[in-house]
Amino acid sequence: MTGITILGATGTIGINTLNVLKQHRDEFEVIALTAYHQVPRLLEQCLEWQPHYAVMVDPNAATQLAQALTAARCPVQVLSGKEGLTQVATLPEVKMVMAAIVGSAGLLPTLAAATAGKRVLLANKEALVMSGQLFMDAVQQQGAELLPIDSEHNAIFQCLPMTFQQTPGLEQIGVNQIWLTASGGPFRTYSPEQLQHVTPEQACAHPKWKMGRKISVDSATMMNKGLEVIEACWLFAARSNQIQVVLHPQSIIHSLVEYIDGSMLAQLGNPDMRTPIACALAWPKRMTSGVARLNLLEVARLEFEPIELAKFPCLKLAYEAMAAGGTTTAILNAANEVAVQSFLENRLAFTAIPKVIDQTLSHIPGRIATHLETILEDDAQAREFAQQIVDRLNHPSFSSPYQGGVGNGGP
Ligand code: NAD
Ligand code: MG
Repeated sequence: MTGITILGATGTIGINTLNVLKQHRDEFEVIALTAYHQVPRLLEQCLEWQPHYAVMVDPNAATQLAQALTAARCPVQVLSGKEGLTQVATLPEVKMVMAAIVGSAGLLPTLAAATAGKRVLLANKEALVMSGQLFMDAVQQQGAELLPIDSEHNAIFQCLPMTFQQTPGLEQIGVNQIWLTASGGPFRTYSPEQLQHVTPEQACAHPKWKMGRKISVDSATMMNKGLEVIEACWLFAARSNQIQVVLHPQSIIHSLVEYIDGSMLAQLGNPDMRTPIACALAWPKRMTSGVARLNLLEVARLEFEPIELAKFPCLKLAYEAMAAGGTTTAILNAANEVAVQSFLENRLAFTAIPKVIDQTLSHIPGRIATHLETILEDDAQAREFAQQIVDRLNHPSFSSPYQGGVGNGGP
């Protein structure tokens, strides 16, 4: 039995992971499940999986969960706070850690899992975007395994030679470039005028994937693809100019690797996260995932379109941040998290998201990112500055071009 901790068990990726594990109960033992504060869902998961530990970051939620588990005579040890996350990510009986917390909150436990030499199944792309070099060094020095869950990166991982992790770079194995596919999100065909008026509900209605709210907004702004470009650079030791993005509205090809002999290898499948999850859990073997087989005759056509960077400023900002290096990508990520949260709370227009990020990047200079403290300091500074921009835009006396005339201002 392989012991596994699922960080972010109550989210979309966490639930999909448990769905795959359910099909392979004899091979995996769930050691710990974590969530921020969703008591009913984590309670239900604990009753079904009987893990050794459950972590609720919110202390009140932890007390409620512990009481409910005691009442149900379910012997799960409940931990609370951020320290609990790190504790269950590093337990000796845990061989694999599914890193599926959303956003920067996932950084410390995910990094701790890598430092403890675990197999890290990485969904939490923000952790790698924030700490790139530090994270990859921890993986290498501690002999951890890093397997991508993001569908594009999992596709690339499958299209690279199995020995890739031991090679120093893409050139050495004859790779010309990597192609990330992008569905284009729900607003692919919208005009700039239409974009000014989109709501959180519209942004969260992705045409192909069912995902958490933050990544859904990131997909709509294309920041998700930007974060994925940065993620790919670190995972595959690539320069940003070796990563291309192409629009592929059907989301059947999950990404491609182009070799110098003219070959392009692609991974295809129905858009269902259980495929990359099963791939990473079983690697280097294969196991069933519950995903419907892809019927090529039903798909019939695969379409591709070029990406216009001018239409997706967030993607452009991400490329620029990666080229700048150091803590710049952590600053980009922090400003994006603040802007997206403000948009989800109806305090910022959709079209103002890239402007908040751009201004934050212009205001806070990136630094060399060899220490975690530096990264966390710049993350905090960027959050504070981005929040000030949002607050300023929301001030009643401020008539902002960023709000695009949308009456979504604050108090
Ligand atoms: P989600 O919002 O559905 O779930 C997030 C999980 O993180 C929940 O369990 C929540 O309780 C937990 N969480 C939230 N804030 C927390 C905090 N401050 N501290 C501790 N835990 C916290 O998100 P999701 O769609 O499952 O995405 C999770 C991660 O996987 C993201 O980084 C996302 O970019 C990545 N990802 C998701 C998909 C997808 O299809 N959903 C695909 C690729 C990558
Ligand atoms: Mg993805």
